[in-house]
Amino acid sequence: MPNSSGRPSRPVAGRSRRPFSSNTASGDSARRSSSAHRSTPRTGGYSRPNSSSSSSSSFSRGGYAGGRSFGGRSSFGGGSRGGSSRGRGRVMSTFDVSKFINLNPAKPVTEAPYQAKHTFNDFGLDKDLALAIATMGLVTPSPIQDQVIPYILQGHDVVGLAQTGTGKTAAFLIPVIHKTLHERSRQTLILTPTRELAIQIEQELRRLTPRMNLYATVCVGGMNIRPQISGLRRKNHFIIGTPGRVQDLIDRGHIKPGGITTVIFDEADRMLDMGFIHDMREILKDIPDERETLFFSATMSKSVEGLVNDFLRDPITVSVRKTDITNSITQDVVRYEHHNKFDTLVNLLKTEEFTRVIVFGAMKHSVEKLSLELVHAGIKADAIHGNKSHVQRQRALKNFKDGRVQVLVATDVAARGIHVDDVSHVINYDLPGTYEDYVHRIGRTGRSDKSGKALTFVPAH
Ligand code: AMP
Repeated sequence: MPNSSGRPSRPVAGRSRRPFSSNTASGDSARRSSSAHRSTPRTGGYSRPNSSSSSSSSFSRGGYAGGRSFGGRSSFGGGSRGGSSRGRGRVMSTFDVSKFINLNPAKPVTEAPYQAKHTFNDFGLDKDLALAIATMGLVTPSPIQDQVIPYILQGHDVVGLAQTGTGKTAAFLIPVIHKTLHERSRQTLILTPTRELAIQIEQELRRLTPRMNLYATVCVGGMNIRPQISGLRRKNHFIIGTPGRVQDLIDRGHIKPGGITTVIFDEADRMLDMGFIHDMREILKDIPDERETLFFSATMSKSVEGLVNDFLRDPITVSVRKTDITNSITQDVVRYEHHNKFDTLVNLLKTEEFTRVIVFGAMKHSVEKLSLELVHAGIKADAIHGNKSHVQRQRALKNFKDGRVQVLVATDVAARGIHVDDVSHVINYDLPGTYEDYVHRIGRTGRSDKSGKALTFVPAH
């Protein structure tokens, strides 16, 4: 799939109301509900690709110490909303190193190719929208699109179990745009866990709605609220935002929940992990019950299932989750001594095959520091974390996507929903806070049909 970096010609920021165009009809209702998996790692140890300088004992082979558990809560800094750990997913209070090792990954995507049952023409979409889809180069509906679009068009509540990279954004945008073009009084609220994801969705919305006179405002935290408020002054067909800021704007009277006809939760599991549950519930409280609700999540845990039961009416569930994405990613641990953890990282990054690397750190400040130290050590690096301004984050991401920097150092939260092709390695310099975080982190590599490599730093002693 082409990546989502289709750059908008104008800046997005927290206002982006802009026209997209056209005219009348809508949907109705019906409903039902579903599952998830996990990895089967093995043992091993990372052996350096070019052992010419393998003198460093820090990433010695045979890293695995027979399933020994280590660490307590504090060992797994795992970035989170604002760096705290409130509302996280399952915390790994004891940690089995073998979970980070899989030296014989399955060949990526050995599953039979999906046979789409529809073409985009089959959906009977508005002709301008169909044209925009074709212009974007989307030819065949992806599996999630193929399965979910008809239900959304019919007005069903839908649960879509799909990771990023599956085309899930277009899966919900396309039918909702179609319905909005035919019933312009509709207003859709899209909630996302991070501002980056909100902006990416808005970018895709723009690409799908040229000259259609549809309006959207992005309402995300960490950015000046004023342009968002002014963007909300006139009717928006789409409001895309993070739960905290959206709730704030509802409280201030700038978003009127009574007028919202469709609510979309994107990466709902991440929102839960990030402690947004209270805001999510509050936001829904005043949105009319007759709303349509679409719920996208990469995982289906008990708590996610609880949300589905509370928020959706008789939903149809469609799952396109791969059997196990972690299976196709080579995973290993890197043993380090405390005194030379950083040097161990630098040595790895200087290895030829580490062409495009995301390094995960635990905290915002440590991520920033690590990035500066890497630059100092001669590695082209940039950082993405919550203490950076929006513009800085976007710039770092662009530098990384465009190949101007080799390494992106990131906190978990900042990395949510990042779509970057050809990430050669994910390095967990600091341990993730939860196993879900681990899976999410390493999923940044091995996207689509590519194989990926993930390395996790664990103390030698
Ligand atoms: P998402 O799962 O929404 O993060 O989508 C990831 C990427 O897939 C985006 O760059 C989309 O432009 C791309 N994409 C979406 N739908 C399709 C499709 N039907 N065929 C090919 N690429 C697609």
